[in-house]
Amino acid sequence: MSLLEIIDDNTAKSKLSKNDDKPFKLWMPKRVVFTADAMEESYGQKIYERVSALGLRKEIAKNNRITGLRGKDERETYRIAKNTLAIVNAPPSAFNLRPIPPSADWQFHLAEGCPAHCQYCYLAGSLSGPPAIRVFANLPQILQNTIRFQRLNQVVSYEASCYTDPLSLEHLTGGLEETIKFFAEQPNTHLRFVTKFDNVEPLIGLTHNGKTRFRCSLNADIVSKRLEGGTPAVQSRLAALRKMALPKPLGGGGYPVGIVLAPIIPVPDWEIHYSQLLDDIERHLDFETDLTFELITHRFTPGSRDILLEWYPNTSLDFGEDNRAIKRNKFGGHK
Ligand code: SF4
Repeated sequence: MSLLEIIDDNTAKSKLSKNDDKPFKLWMPKRVVFTADAMEESYGQKIYERVSALGLRKEIAKNNRITGLRGKDERETYRIAKNTLAIVNAPPSAFNLRPIPPSADWQFHLAEGCPAHCQYCYLAGSLSGPPAIRVFANLPQILQNTIRFQRLNQVVSYEASCYTDPLSLEHLTGGLEETIKFFAEQPNTHLRFVTKFDNVEPLIGLTHNGKTRFRCSLNADIVSKRLEGGTPAVQSRLAALRKMALPKPLGGGGYPVGIVLAPIIPVPDWEIHYSQLLDDIERHLDFETDLTFELITHRFTPGSRDILLEWYPNTSLDFGEDNRAIKRNKFGGHK
């Protein structure tokens, strides 16, 4: 395919995503609350300016506690918390990075929580308390701290999406932009994150020096429509993936990219649905690109299942254990 054909084809595919039948709007929290310490941070103030420009209601707490997140039951707590963006400072423990094999050498966090409503969400049971979205105002220090974990003559990788979907918050925080620019200047490092979101435009023109891998979380359309509330349609994500992967001279971001098919769910006719998805991927990435591919089956722990069933009591997701294998971690607990 010639360069010109690739550009024309890209335009056609973008139009296709706009015609998708799943309307999507970026998340606008009903409540934005800043802790006193967060307001002392320059990045906290940048977020304050962003959310002010968006006309969102803001509060500044007198101290560093976020209150008012609990309702009369779990459902109401879920509703209140998922509408709340809290800007806080990450605690000192966030500076002791933890390894995360086999994904990356280390994990660090721009935020905790996610505004979407995926009925299998792996964050249920991983994060404690009401599922409010907490963004860390001391991000510049968190980024500087990653330098302590660099090694001479050895590439060190960092994962930034263990406890959030960072692109879901980018319009409110600009945190990914800060992070990508920071890693672009770091020797022997590699940043990766995964997302179900498609608002990649602010990332396209950034200088990343090939240090950031944009990974796109995809699923069969039927699974996404049933289980992934508050996320862009699969076709829109594919268009975003293509944009991020296309070389810069062709108007793309020129990023190394990845595909994460997760969680794979054995819906009726799963072979047909997942084959369609693979065909779609092939059509969207019809040029040479630096690509990784991950396949992840559906799993849950008894704790995360109980929380998810409280949050989504009418879910069609099968939490039965009859056809499942139990995987245990090295301490004997459920994985
Ligand atoms: S997008 Fe990811 S982090 Fe957000 S609710 Fe869905 S599975 Fe959870």
